[in-house]
Amino acid sequence: MINLRKVAEEKGIKYFLISFVDLFGVLRAKMVPAEAIEGMQKDGAGFAGFASWLDMTPAHPDMFGVPDPDSLIQLPWKPEIGWLCSDLWMDGKEVEASPRVALKRQIAKLNKMGYRPKAGVECEFFLINPEGNALSDLDDKQKKPCYDQQALMRRYEVIRDICDSMLELGWKPYQNDHEDGNGQFEMNWDYDDVLKTADRHTFFKYMTRSIAENYGIRATFMPKPFAHLTGNGCHSHISLWDHPTGKKNIFNSDRDSRNLGLSEIAYNFLGGIMENAQALCAIFNPSVNSYKRIGAGSATSSGASWSPSTVTYSGNNRTHLVRVPDNGRFELRLMDGATNPYLSQAGILAAGAYGITNKCDPGEPININMYEDAYDAKPHEILPKNLLDALRLLDKSKILREAMGDDLISAIIKLRTKEWDDYSSKISQWELDNTIDC
Ligand SMILES: [Mg+2]
Repeated sequence: MINLRKVAEEKGIKYFLISFVDLFGVLRAKMVPAEAIEGMQKDGAGFAGFASWLDMTPAHPDMFGVPDPDSLIQLPWKPEIGWLCSDLWMDGKEVEASPRVALKRQIAKLNKMGYRPKAGVECEFFLINPEGNALSDLDDKQKKPCYDQQALMRRYEVIRDICDSMLELGWKPYQNDHEDGNGQFEMNWDYDDVLKTADRHTFFKYMTRSIAENYGIRATFMPKPFAHLTGNGCHSHISLWDHPTGKKNIFNSDRDSRNLGLSEIAYNFLGGIMENAQALCAIFNPSVNSYKRIGAGSATSSGASWSPSTVTYSGNNRTHLVRVPDNGRFELRLMDGATNPYLSQAGILAAGAYGITNKCDPGEPININMYEDAYDAKPHEILPKNLLDALRLLDKSKILREAMGDDLISAIIKLRTKEWDDYSSKISQWELDNTIDC
């Protein structure tokens, strides 16, 4: 077991952040001096659960964030701080309805089945002004701004600081670009074990926001911050490897009759995802705002939303929910920037494991342009149009309740339905514009 007190001395860490992610994806922490880390490493840092987005009341006892020493990241831009992920405990038991615990359970289930899941994520974000109502770069105006070198280089210092940090941390970053929306960027690093990727996803959001703040601007992962621009996706690439070595890609096959380089197990996993995709929306696209991205169609100034609107899969074709860009893995394009880094991966693994166990068949790939070509989608292939519809589908899903646990699903439904009710109680400008003269 790593001794964090010793590590602090060796690395010059003065403070630790013992952090956790709540059900809404908010990163919370206690800042603990290195002198006090020994006790915290053993017993955890105390929190009042109700004060975060967890399904608890003010009467609940203390909740403890027990840090995972393997997750330690020394902040490259502030090396006196060591960041730690923690798992939540209460009354001597892990909190079932907490994101990192939920993901670890899914990983353990896959391990038991003989698989070691690996994932990579593509976290798109906008750089905006501190007030959050305009881009940070007002010269970024091209109609098709994707890969715009001039706009990318006007934000060179921010992108460089983030990429330098990833290099220093050994994440193996390999490319950075200006994305399809004005002011939008994406930075890619190597895939890895699912828990590591979820921890890094969490840290990436914190790091990107922090480094943007260092330059007096703001980074947002909000799914659709500007109605006319492409939204922030969070595509996830998934593959299963042999457990425990992780050397052989089980999804890979040279004898795929569909010519996508996928094995039967991969298709079963994919079948599980497709069968549960509608219900998973409430996890992959958890905010009110998420559905403005999925529903955008071609109504963006660049001409495409780059988001799926149907539960379909294809080869190397970006207009479907699932793309198979290469042998041995596939890309889920549904998730957006609001998705919880842990619940997102937990949802993928839960549905995929169900698919393997039940030998689900995803059917044949569809190779048309889903944005352009008229397509008669069947009811089970249409994604929910708003958060309430998505929550109702998740609430009713016996498969996901069984696979992810009633405590977790009920907590998500309860808290997000309250959020929907809050949203619905507000009168929007659209309503005034369209109803005032009724
Ligand atoms: Mg992208």
